[in-house]
Amino acid sequence: MSDVKRRFTVGLTGGIGSGKSAVARLFAQRGVDIVDTDQIARNLTGPHGAAMPALLAEFGADFADAQGALDRARMRALVFTVPDAKRRLEGILHPMIRDAVFAESLLGTGPYVIFDIPLLVESGTWKERVGRVLVVDCPEEVQLARVVARNGLPQAQVRAIMAAQVPRQVRLAAADDVIDNGGALDALAPQVDRLHAIYLTMAEEEVRNN
Ligand code: ADP
Repeated sequence: MSDVKRRFTVGLTGGIGSGKSAVARLFAQRGVDIVDTDQIARNLTGPHGAAMPALLAEFGADFADAQGALDRARMRALVFTVPDAKRRLEGILHPMIRDAVFAESLLGTGPYVIFDIPLLVESGTWKERVGRVLVVDCPEEVQLARVVARNGLPQAQVRAIMAAQVPRQVRLAAADDVIDNGGALDALAPQVDRLHAIYLTMAEEEVRNN
């Protein structure tokens, strides 16, 4: 998308329950634009979402539910049983998600933009599309306890979700910046303030170089 105005962009990521949403809220309170990639993916595959015609053409009309949204259970079952299905699904969805994320990022008026991307490290392609990778980190046992408390899921199910994500050390190795959320919630704001000051400077440089 070479015709697109460039804005300084931070990719925010972290394992499930690490505290991404809490961190994103603090940046939003400081006037930063937040683009929620999960929400964009849900909209694309929601009732009569923009990705639905292409998905139904690829997989068949019976992959829509009564509301015209993607039948997630059916798609999940297909992805688990048909070797090529995940690649075909992502081949349609990922470029549409990327385009929608960049389009939404241009609407904001804040000094810079944060893309909230839970699977930034796993997806491989986001890392080179953001100016900076910010990882929210906490010990895996803390993640587990928070998600059990938040979602009321059994421990085994949360462990299975965590096992499908990259290990903590792999995510940390991809980070330019790290927020430690292993402690109390009020330890986040000072860390966000420190990074926000750095990102504001980087955003100004980006404007100067454009
Ligand atoms: P993510 O968006 O990474 O899945 P959340 O920001 O939703 O994580 O945090 C997961 C859960 O843990 C939420 O219920 C949140 O309120 C809680 N939480 C986050 N950070 C802390 C913290 N430092 N101390 C206690 N609870 C926290």
